[in-house]
Amino acid sequence: MYDVDEIRKDFPILGRKVYGRPLVYLDNAATVQKPRSVVEAMSDEYYNVNANVHRGVHFLSQQATELHEAARETVRRFLNARSTAEVIFTRGTTESINLVAACFGEAFMREGDEVIVSEMEHHANIVSWQLLQARKGIKIRVIPVDGRGELRMDEFERLFNEHTRIVSVTHVSNVLGTVNPVRRIVEVAHAHGVPVLIDGAQSTPHFSVDVQALDCDFFAFSGHKVYGPTGIGVLYGKENWLDRLPPYMGGGEMIGHVSFEHTTFAELPLKFEAGTPDYVASTGLARALDYVSHLGLDAIQSHERGLTRYALDGLRQISGMRILGEADDHDAVVSFLVGHIHHLDMGTLLDRLGIAVRTGHHCAEPLMRRFGVEGTVRASFALYNTRQEVDTLVAGIARVAQMF
Ligand code: PLP
Repeated sequence: MYDVDEIRKDFPILGRKVYGRPLVYLDNAATVQKPRSVVEAMSDEYYNVNANVHRGVHFLSQQATELHEAARETVRRFLNARSTAEVIFTRGTTESINLVAACFGEAFMREGDEVIVSEMEHHANIVSWQLLQARKGIKIRVIPVDGRGELRMDEFERLFNEHTRIVSVTHVSNVLGTVNPVRRIVEVAHAHGVPVLIDGAQSTPHFSVDVQALDCDFFAFSGHKVYGPTGIGVLYGKENWLDRLPPYMGGGEMIGHVSFEHTTFAELPLKFEAGTPDYVASTGLARALDYVSHLGLDAIQSHERGLTRYALDGLRQISGMRILGEADDHDAVVSFLVGHIHHLDMGTLLDRLGIAVRTGHHCAEPLMRRFGVEGTVRASFALYNTRQEVDTLVAGIARVAQMF
């Protein structure tokens, strides 16, 4: 049984009040709250284990290294990667995408070569490629989004040509909630001999991901969006791709031997992990993945999908409501505007009612342009949200709408 009241007890912050009202936290696509077990594992490591990893012969260093590498194994299991060599710790999705753009771009792209992204990408998956564009003169091709917020798959297939080198798309839109057909995208790309990077920032918190079943070549996600700490994330990459990429940064950890004449690099995954890693955050991330795995991602998904449908039904009753994103496969994110009420006004007034939503362009300005809006209000759901909170949201929006 999925007992949301019991689950909420694991998240002390949910008991907080803001402006004297119970907090209704619906900004989960930006970051989620952390269960006690994550924070406690991290403080325990700082209090009892802390030592730099990998190079130490002493007891604490070895223990810290064991925890860090055990965390890598937890991530491997979570993604069903073949080996821990394919699991690279980064600072988050943004860094993971930048790493692929920089290293794949360095090794495999030259002037005139093309990357395919989509119109619903987060800026992280646009600007990383634009930096490469500025350095190497690559081209960025864009899969359009239709009025319902789904990718135009017919157009996608037409974007391939002899210059296409990589496809980089989001698994779930952080604005529309659309779940993209990434398995199909990988199939099409592979039929053209082109690898695929999937931005999993908004999928990993909500449903189970199996990188072998998807057959994607790279997969990125952020710890803080999946109940782990900030400052840590993951890049999964197939070993045969990672082996052929140059390192991202130079420094300690990522080397074999160094001399002024010739330096060799470490084996995977350390080749991509220069400098002291956030080994305490990796422990926190592992506890977070244990937490969601223990609840069961299928149970989480069914709870959140139920909430999302319930929210959409409630929102549609409000006059002047415009919902952006009506995809058939819709995850736990709802973006909307009401009449001519500015998204910032709506967000600010909801905040006064204790309801935390996000407003603005959600780091997806091209998508805003596609829908002819400057920004939206976004409510996004997590495993701990309740129907009562959705009721509070809907009543809050109706109240703000009346004020206007
Ligand atoms: N990609 C998507 C789809 C996102 O929603 C986000 C964050 O909102 C990111 C990438 C960037 O994640 P981070 O800031 O954790 O690197």
